Amino acid sequence: MTVLVFVEPDDELSLQAVTLARSLDGEVHGLSIGPAQAPVDVLHVAEIEGTYAPAASAAALVQLIEQLAPTAVVAPGSDRGNEVLAHAAARLDLPMAANVTDVRGDDVTRQRWGGTLLEEARVHAELKLLSAAPFAFPVGSASAPGRVETFVPDLTGADTAVRVVETVGASTGGVALADAKVVVSGGRGVGSSEGFAILEELAALLEGAVGCSRVVTSAGWRPHTDQVGQTGTKVSPDLYIACGISGATQHIAGCKGAKKLLAINDDPEATIFSHADYAVIGNLHEIVPAITAELRKARGG
Ligand SMILES: Cc1cc2nc3c(=O)[nH]c(=O)nc-3n(C[C@H](O)[C@H](O)[C@H](O)COP(=O)(O)OP(=O)(O)OC[C@H]3O[C@@H](n4cnc5c(N)ncnc54)[C@H](O)[C@@H]3O)c2cc1C
Repeated sequence: MTVLVFVEPDDELSLQAVTLARSLDGEVHGLSIGPAQAPVDVLHVAEIEGTYAPAASAAALVQLIEQLAPTAVVAPGSDRGNEVLAHAAARLDLPMAANVTDVRGDDVTRQRWGGTLLEEARVHAELKLLSAAPFAFPVGSASAPGRVETFVPDLTGADTAVRVVETVGASTGGVALADAKVVVSGGRGVGSSEGFAILEELAALLEGAVGCSRVVTSAGWRPHTDQVGQTGTKVSPDLYIACGISGATQHIAGCKGAKKLLAINDDPEATIFSHADYAVIGNLHEIVPAITAELRKARGG
């Protein structure tokens, strides 16, 4: 019996996927696009010219599945791992179980809703397509594979029609959100992307970074890289200033590491106040500029 695992070079989540693959019965084969270090029995290395193309990776995976006839295919629970496996599932017309934390024969436990819910599910297919929930499995050593073989996939123009053309680094405005000592974060209460100007001004004065809630990134007011929370960045600054944020569990999951939390909200009943060390009940559009003005005055500027 064979288990096939899709691995990416220098990727911790891929090593976690190998751990899941190893817990299943069978010899563990890996497929990587380009050379990778992975503790599998046999690593098939496919060379695909150019940048990442999801359909091309999936085509290679499907062709190797047809060659090896594995009982399960495991992918890392990364955006890319899930994307390639979903493409493969569509090509094979098979179900796929994403974010799996446990496998018992046909039954799996998997994370739903960003990890807030565990689902017991049954995979109705001979070939199980599973992605490993991030950080649900320990990382094995990034040791060399037992054997390396070259795999040459048969690709069409359609397989490479959609590919990454440019990678743009996150704009952090100087201080990275994850490392900032002060984070000035805004929620729906900020009202618009322009409304963040007063938060940016305060953050700059405090040499901090601007963060936000998911409502804000969903509305397109700020980039996803600014999102704090369960599905965003986890921050642990000395001071977290939450402006117009209600305090949903998923947001608090990202800022509960803050040493002190100052909440500014015009609703005295807002949940955020139960997490706050300091509370200001009022309109953030008045309070934030007032704090900035006081700071400037105190600094003599
Ligand atoms: C699986 C899943 C993952 C999620 N992940 C995340 C995540 O990573 N991060 C995240 O943030 N959310 C996440 N969410 C969404 C989360 O549940 C909330 O919907 C979201 O955090 C709410 O954002 P908010 O506080 O900005 O908006 P709201 O809940 O609408 O709160 C807005 C607040 O602003 C206040 N307000 C309005 N106007 C003013 C004003 N002028 N002055 C002062 N206060 C004002 C209001 O009183 C209110 O309390 C997730 C949800 C799910 C289901």
